[in-house]
Amino acid sequence: MKVVIARLNHETNTFSPLATPLAAFGAGDPRGPAFGSDAYAAARGSATAMGAFIDLAERKGCELVTPLFAMANPSGPVDASAYRVMCDVIVDAIAQGCDAILLDLHGAMVVENVDGGADDGEGELLERIRKIAPVTPLAVALDLHANVSERMVRHADIIVGFKTYPHTDMYETGAHAARLLFDMLAGKIKPMVAIARPGVLAQTLCQNTEIAGAMRDGVEFARGLERHGALAASVFGGFYLADIANAGMSVVVITDGDAAKAASWAEDCSALLKSRRDEFIFRQAPLADSVARAHAIKHGLTLLLDHGDNCMSGGTCDTLGVLEECLRHGMTRIGVGPICDPQAVAELIDAGVGATVTIALGNKTPMPKISTPIGPPLQLTGCVRAISNGEYTISGPIYTGTRCYMGRTVLFDIGAARIVVTEQTQEPWDLGVFACAGLDPAQERYLILKSRMYYRPVFAPLASTIIECASVGVCSSDFSLFDYHRVRRPIYPLDA
Ligand SMILES: [Zn+2]
Repeated sequence: MKVVIARLNHETNTFSPLATPLAAFGAGDPRGPAFGSDAYAAARGSATAMGAFIDLAERKGCELVTPLFAMANPSGPVDASAYRVMCDVIVDAIAQGCDAILLDLHGAMVVENVDGGADDGEGELLERIRKIAPVTPLAVALDLHANVSERMVRHADIIVGFKTYPHTDMYETGAHAARLLFDMLAGKIKPMVAIARPGVLAQTLCQNTEIAGAMRDGVEFARGLERHGALAASVFGGFYLADIANAGMSVVVITDGDAAKAASWAEDCSALLKSRRDEFIFRQAPLADSVARAHAIKHGLTLLLDHGDNCMSGGTCDTLGVLEECLRHGMTRIGVGPICDPQAVAELIDAGVGATVTIALGNKTPMPKISTPIGPPLQLTGCVRAISNGEYTISGPIYTGTRCYMGRTVLFDIGAARIVVTEQTQEPWDLGVFACAGLDPAQERYLILKSRMYYRPVFAPLASTIIECASVGVCSSDFSLFDYHRVRRPIYPLDA
């Protein structure tokens, strides 16, 4: 039996100014996506859905065809030619003939300017596949943040989404989808897929499944459906930073041969989410109030989460609103970073270690798709404390052992704050982000992190207080910053 297995992952923030070319799809490797045997090597043994597909298919003794392993960090719409190249290799592999298809997709991919815009990158791909392989069993694993479309549901036999955020069950989700696919091939099940929508544009900060709340209860409800006979039940939080028709929460349920039951179960779960819709909206204090609260704390390390500009949601990592507010309050002993500003890095390196210079830092990436201006760069005078190549190996629990590259990196000391400035964006998920530039967060009173979820395992245990800051940026939790034109209405909270 021949099985085509591929991975194509991107969460598109349609408000983000960051480009998404083919090179971005290297899952951290600057050479770009992996094809063919390289894709197999990259996926095999990885804790991804595709890693699970490979394990299960090999256990079944299948012949594997692995045309693509591609993953890019969240950013703006995917470059049209990059999308075409990656979809072509998948479609071409299927066109050679196969008995089954397993795809590891995200579900929130938007493509730039494909015939006027492809809002539904995954649905478009699945439709192309169905044109050449109309009845070949096809299973898809999706991210919990997928903006699921009717087109995806129509063209896939099986859809299973992650049940955790932070995502710790990518492999298990892939294994679940693959098990159902092999049961279908063996004639043991006849999957019927249904989708329901609660009409909620849920914010990412309110989708944590590790804490009590509506998201975790929704996922528990879905698990209950699986215990009562659903082949799979998935709650999708969706990705709200996308001005597309399908943005928002959804529920997908698969039953064995009973379409009516799949539909009614999906509606039941959707009704639960709708009844708790308020819990999916993050209510935030004004930035000045949050910073004043931090200033009043006299002991321990306080984390200031600059979550409106998080690179794992499409942020530029160069806005400086939180630092500016802290300086206005006269706060000192502030650690900041990483701030992505290649121009500032070049100027600081030219000045050299020990030099005192005045530079324009941050706020340099125009954000034409949000309504509030970010202001001019900050004019800051300080000392160049250290210069490094910005490389480190993650010792924390997320992506342990992975080598990370932030580009050339400088520690810039302005007296009140020590700022790690880099050439590339980087999620602060590990102490290495600061250690490789010579900054020890334990020596600071405040630490400004451009993070919303990934900071938790490493930085939360160091801190006595954590304060979310309503910063301006393309991943803000303030809906008034974003102009939605294409989202299906009515939807909460844009409509009461
Ligand atoms: Zn996600």
